[in-house]
Amino acid sequence: MPKGWVWSLAITLGLMVLVLVWPPLAAVGVLIGGALHVAVLVQTQKESTQRLNARLEEARKQNSLQERNIAMKSRQLETIVVNLPFPFALMDTQGELVLTNDPFMRFVEKETSPLMYDSPVFHPELRAFIRNAFIKESTLIKAFNLNATDYQAYAVPVFDKSRYAGCLLMFLDITQILEGERMQKRFIADASHELRTPLSSILGMIEILNRSGFNDEPTRVEFQIQIETEAKRMEAIIQDLTVLSRLSAQKVMLNPVRANLYHLIESVYRPLKPSFEAKGDQLRIEMDEHQTVTGDVEKLHQVFTNLLTNALKFTEKGTITVRASNQAGYCVIEVIDTGIGIPLEDQKYIFDRFYRADPSRHRASGGSGLGLAIVKSYVTAHKGEITVSSVPGEGATFTIKLPM
Ligand code: ADP
Repeated sequence: MPKGWVWSLAITLGLMVLVLVWPPLAAVGVLIGGALHVAVLVQTQKESTQRLNARLEEARKQNSLQERNIAMKSRQLETIVVNLPFPFALMDTQGELVLTNDPFMRFVEKETSPLMYDSPVFHPELRAFIRNAFIKESTLIKAFNLNATDYQAYAVPVFDKSRYAGCLLMFLDITQILEGERMQKRFIADASHELRTPLSSILGMIEILNRSGFNDEPTRVEFQIQIETEAKRMEAIIQDLTVLSRLSAQKVMLNPVRANLYHLIESVYRPLKPSFEAKGDQLRIEMDEHQTVTGDVEKLHQVFTNLLTNALKFTEKGTITVRASNQAGYCVIEVIDTGIGIPLEDQKYIFDRFYRADPSRHRASGGSGLGLAIVKSYVTAHKGEITVSSVPGEGATFTIKLPM
């Protein structure tokens, strides 16, 4: 543009000089000057239009590139949101839930469009939470139970260049965490209860023994024996608790080897033999003498000690059989007794900590209620399985499957 003006001015000035030198040329000069000036202007205009068009074209290209970018990013965002494993939604500044995933839509009782923050399709508690998030435009955290699941809900406001642009709603499933906490509390309560029972009976007996003027010799001897029994029970409970707490802290280090199962059962039976004989019980080992098992010998020793001790505890003058065979990649071991058996309603709980089928009778037998919980933890650590079957009055069978 400035270049055109320079040319035009130069020609006009040239003609003016000629006119001053030779006046008759003036009219022609003005005409030629004017025409040239117009021609230069037209040329300049044409060039400007071309440049403008080129720029417009460039801008158009940029725009469509940006549009493609935005479309791609929005698709990526949608893919992420849809695949999030927990309920998630994005609410815009008008309170419309513009982006939601399937887990979030499970909160919606009936599909509706547009889905607004105060829609009656939400559970009242959830609606109150989303409504608060919309009104307050600040971070909110709330725990609630929806569809039998415990959630920790988060509302996080989103800002675009310090201007409120909407809100993210996220719902994290905390059922397992709460269940873990509940179990821990129950475990502590159960453990203290278990320890408190023998402890109070010890304290009661000591109080009687310490009374001034107490001189009942047979009662003193009986109490001494009982105190020792209760103290041993407490010791057993504490030992089992220690094992269990190590197990739940996942500190079970297995040292698996291929071991002879027949010899292992024999070594478990040896220290129990006097008790078997005293009760008139018999042990039968029904397996090949070369039967092997793969596992941590020490832990398996504990497993069979607990099972044989229970079988002995609940069987009067009967037979306890340990049977084993290899089946489809597993070593299947059964511990079968002919004792009192376990009622059907108790069978699914007996592997729980502190569970006793008949608390009054079995506490008297000195058990901690932790033996089978330990057995199950050890078997599971070996990637094995344990099940029970029983006909009350006829006996119980514990079946263990251990991978070979
Ligand atoms: P405990 O140390 O009290 O025996 P366990 O965890 O070993 O605890 O067993 C839990 C409960 O399961 C027992 O109190 C008893 O009621 C039942 N039980 C376990 N083994 C047998 C069995 N062989 N026969 C009958 N009842 C059994």
